[in-house]
Amino acid sequence: MTTAAQTQPKPVPEPDESSQEFFDGAKRGELMLSQCNECKAWLHPAAPVCTECMGNDLGWAKASGRGTVFTFGVMHQFYHPGFTHELPYNVAIVELEEGPRLNSNLVNIANEEIKVGMPVKATFVDQGGGVFIPKFEPA
Ligand SMILES: [Zn+2]
Repeated sequence: MTTAAQTQPKPVPEPDESSQEFFDGAKRGELMLSQCNECKAWLHPAAPVCTECMGNDLGWAKASGRGTVFTFGVMHQFYHPGFTHELPYNVAIVELEEGPRLNSNLVNIANEEIKVGMPVKATFVDQGGGVFIPKFEPA
């Protein structure tokens, strides 16, 4: 028997005006973040004005892709049918070397081996439809 849960694909992010640089960078294998040209604060998610100095001269810059696991959880229940075949999967918040925290997944590691504070680095995963997203693996 085929059910909707088995056939529905995972949702793929749709880049918009405020996230296009982030997704273009991911496709090139670069972690791009918004950065204030005035005070150099890193801004994630991208904002229309700098959250540090309220300046509006904002640009994009390549982040190192390095960070540490700030916290994580392991999902044992699916909240979208497209994730059924991936259970149990992890969801992590990675604190980047530059400061911002990114919601992501950890790959190339068993869920049981994930530790808060462990060093990780970005790796870019094809989500289909030409969209790549940064995930993180042990550094
Ligand atoms: Zn600023």
